[in-house]
Amino acid sequence: MDTTGSDYEFVILGSGEGSKYLAWTLAAEGKRVVVIERKYIGGSCPNIACLPSKNVIHSAKVAQHVRESEEFGVVTDYFHVDMPAVRERKRRMVQGLVEIHLANFKKSGAGLIMGSAKFVGPKKLEVSLPDGKTRVIHGDKVIIGTGTHAIIPDLPGLRESNPMTHIEALELDHVPEHLLVLGGGYIGLELAQAMRRFGSRVTVIERNDRLASREDEDVCEAVHQLFEDEGIAVLTNAESTRVEGTSGQSVKLYLTRNGSPASIEATDILVATGRTPNTEGIGLDLAGIELTPTGYIKVNERLETTAPDVWAIGECAGSPQFTHIAFDDFRVIRDNLAGENHVTTGRQVPYCLFTDPELARVGLNEKEAKAKGIPYRLAKMPMAGVLRTRTLSETRGFLKALIDTESDRILGITVFGVSAGEIMGAVQIAMVAGMPYTALRNVILTHPTLLEGFLGLFSSVPPRASK
Ligand SMILES: Cc1cc2nc3c(=O)[nH]c(=O)nc-3n(C[C@H](O)[C@H](O)[C@H](O)COP(=O)(O)OP(=O)(O)OC[C@H]3O[C@@H](n4cnc5c(N)ncnc54)[C@H](O)[C@@H]3O)c2cc1C
Repeated sequence: MDTTGSDYEFVILGSGEGSKYLAWTLAAEGKRVVVIERKYIGGSCPNIACLPSKNVIHSAKVAQHVRESEEFGVVTDYFHVDMPAVRERKRRMVQGLVEIHLANFKKSGAGLIMGSAKFVGPKKLEVSLPDGKTRVIHGDKVIIGTGTHAIIPDLPGLRESNPMTHIEALELDHVPEHLLVLGGGYIGLELAQAMRRFGSRVTVIERNDRLASREDEDVCEAVHQLFEDEGIAVLTNAESTRVEGTSGQSVKLYLTRNGSPASIEATDILVATGRTPNTEGIGLDLAGIELTPTGYIKVNERLETTAPDVWAIGECAGSPQFTHIAFDDFRVIRDNLAGENHVTTGRQVPYCLFTDPELARVGLNEKEAKAKGIPYRLAKMPMAGVLRTRTLSETRGFLKALIDTESDRILGITVFGVSAGEIMGAVQIAMVAGMPYTALRNVILTHPTLLEGFLGLFSSVPPRASK
C-alpha cells in the first residue's frame, strides 16, 4: 500500500464503516486518500462489535438447538460447549473480514497507515507509528471517524475489578460460572442471552424499570418474559453502588433496588452501560473542531464540523449508534463532496436487537406516536399465527404495525419473533416505496414463509373512520 507521500487530498481518521467506504470511493475516483487506523482494520463492526457478536450469538443458538434437539426428534446423549472453538470460529471470520478490507484498500488505491493519530494543527495530524516513530500528515480535507468506546461507570471498585466489556466477552475461552451484566441495552441483552445459552448463570442489572425501555410496554414485557423463561435473572430498578473483588475470579456487587440495599455474588462482570466518543486527547481544539456538551464532534446536518474542510462521520459525530447509519453518513459526505446537499435529518433509523428471537423496529411505535400526538390505527398479530413459525417451533412473539388514520400509509412496524430483522426490512422497503399497507395485505406471498404473516397482520388493520 502506498503511504509514502505526506500530503493527501483526503486524510481519514479511523477505518470504521463510513470512513472506509468514503476512502475506497474517493480513491477509486483517483483522489489521493489515506486512512489512519490505530488497531481495527475496518473499524469496530467486523472486529469487535456487530459481526463477531452475531457470530458468537449464532454459536449460542446452535447450543440451544442441541439442548432442545429432542423436541425435533434428534437425540444426543451428551454435549458440551467448547468456548475455545466458539472463539476460533469467530476469529476465523474476523480474519477473513480483515483480509477483505485489505484487498479493498489495495484495489481502490486508498492508503492505510496503522498508527494512532492526533491533530497538531488545522488539518494536520501527527501519527504515532508502531515502530515508535511519528509522522505528520496534512490533508486538504479531513474526515474524522474515531467511533466510541464502552463507558466504565464511575462506581467504587468497578474499574479495579477489571470488568469485561464486549471486547473481552467476545474473546472468552471459558463459560463464566455466574456473569453479572451491568446494563440492559442491546449489547448487554444480546451477550447475556448468549452466555446463558453457553451455560452461564446470568444476572442482568438494569437501572430502568424495564428492559428495552424505549419500546412499547407489551414489547418490554415480552423481552423480559423471554429472559425469565431462559433462566436469566433480571433486576430492574437496580442502581449499582459498589463492587468488590476481581472479575474472572469472584465479585460482589452492591446495589439498591426500589430503595432497599442488596448484594449479589458472582464470578464475572460485563459492563454494557453505554458508549462514549473517542474524541478526548486527539487535539481537536488545536484544529478548531468543537465538541457538543456530551463530547461528540459538533456537526451540522451535512456532517460538517466547525472547522473548514473537516467532516465527522459515524458514532463520534453523534449519529445513531448503528453500522448502517455510519454507512449512510458515508453517503451524506460523499454526496456533499460532490456538490450535492445531502442531509442527515429525517432519515429512517431501523434497528434490530439480535436476541433470539430478534426484536426489530422501523418507524413509530405506540409510545412515540402518542408522545408526538400522531393518531394511528393498530394491527397486532401473534407470531404463532404465521404458520411458518410452527414448522420451526419458534412461535414466540408478535408483529405490530401502526397505520395512519387519514391514509393507508404505514407509520411503523415492530416485530418480536424469529427473523424479525428480515421481516421488518421487508416492511421498511414498502414504507420507503410509499406503498399503502393494503399492498402488503393483497400481495401473493409464498407459503409457508414468515412474510406471509403480512396477510394476517394487515388484514387486521381497523377500517378508517368515516367522516
Ligand atoms: C458489541 C457491539 C455490537 C454491535 N452490534 C451492532 C449490530 O448488530 N448492528 C449495528 O448496526 N450496529 C451494531 N453495533 C454498533 C456498531 O458497531 C457501530 O455503530 C459502528 O461500528 C460505528 O462505526 P464508526 O465508524 O462510527 O466507529 P468504529 O467502527 O468504532 O471506527 C472507529 C475507528 O477509529 C479508530 N480510531 C479511533 N481513534 C483513533 C485515533 N486516534 N487514531 C487512529 N485510529 C483511531 C478505531 O480503532 C476504530 O477502528 C454494535 C456495537 C457493539 C459494541
